[in-house]
Amino acid sequence: LHNTIQELKGNIRVFARLRPMLPTEGANSDGIDDIPHFAWYDGNVLELDKAMDGDPNETMSGLKRTTSQKVEFNFDRVFAPSSSQAEVFEEIAQLVQSALDGYNVCIFAYGQTGSGKTHTMEGDMEGTPEHRGMIPRAVEQIFCTAEKLKTKGWEYKITASFLEIYNESLRDLLDSKQDKKMDIKLKDGRSSKDNKTNDVYVSNQVVVDVNSEAEVYPLLKKANKHRAVAATKCNDRSSRSHSVFQLTIKGENHLTSESCSGVLNLIDLAGSEQVKKSGSQGKQLQEAQNINKSLSNLSLVITALSNKDSYIPYRNSKLTHLLQNSLGGNSKTLMFVNVSPQEEHLGESINSLRFATTVNQC
Ligand code: ADP
Ligand code: MG
Repeated sequence: LHNTIQELKGNIRVFARLRPMLPTEGANSDGIDDIPHFAWYDGNVLELDKAMDGDPNETMSGLKRTTSQKVEFNFDRVFAPSSSQAEVFEEIAQLVQSALDGYNVCIFAYGQTGSGKTHTMEGDMEGTPEHRGMIPRAVEQIFCTAEKLKTKGWEYKITASFLEIYNESLRDLLDSKQDKKMDIKLKDGRSSKDNKTNDVYVSNQVVVDVNSEAEVYPLLKKANKHRAVAATKCNDRSSRSHSVFQLTIKGENHLTSESCSGVLNLIDLAGSEQVKKSGSQGKQLQEAQNINKSLSNLSLVITALSNKDSYIPYRNSKLTHLLQNSLGGNSKTLMFVNVSPQEEHLGESINSLRFATTVNQC
């Protein structure tokens, strides 16, 4: 039934998630500041008042605004600042599960730096379980369901990998070797009629066989450690790179002889903020251009797929090239657009929501 609903709705869904104000941003512990005064939302609609994106002094002085310029965005779901990780996961649980039915699933977090992408995808993995994000919850769900399906004859082989795309080059987050060469390659031996010709793999990548949820956690920790080390070497690198956590799932049913193969990709995208051209130069400018290029190419690929174009520009960026067999064809895509509640970020929030709306129209 779930798959029928999916087909009716198309294979792309977009959820907006507005993060709460943080204590450091002056949030009240009683939650009064929970809803930014420039935002209004219900289950599917998020409306921002663009008129508030003006001179910040104007609001601080308490002047009443006489004009309002509301922009309305429609999504499959809008999550309020008070939404818990569990509530958010509940909405994607079935999508995650479809990777066990042989679908290729991509779940993206898009938004400017500080909007809550990493919180949504990874959450607090060391802290209390309720703060765990989509990745650990998805892993738990996959193994839990795989275990249940054993009674129906299914045996699954699951592998995990985790990499980062920084400045259009790949880095293995599961390997401490820094300087190995990694490339995206096409799997050999496929005929052109085979609908899997899109199958790509990454050369020299560490791919780990995982038999339980518990075997995945050390990998997530290791990846985090590698990202953190890189981040101190290069200021704030993690916000300028895409990270892609991938589970490949191959199932065989020894009762019915059926088989299936699916992939679950969970992607924490680079910060979408526009870099002020004047302020950045050299490396920073190059980083910004690469991010812009790969994010806009992602939207081009999604649009081309939904238009059923004959040419899909997968190879124009590493991200879409890497994900080419998980976008399009037998695939399902979900994008979180994460939104900051801070008024100073209103302009960027509107940009993010516009991008997400383009994706949502596919
Ligand atoms: P991004 O990855 O987009 O740069 P983060 O996920 O790091 O942003 O979020 C920025 C800060 O806001 C972090 O301190 C994070 O813990 C916090 N945060 C984000 N979303 C939430 C949320 N839904 N509830 C509580 N704290 C959040
Ligand atoms: Mg982040």
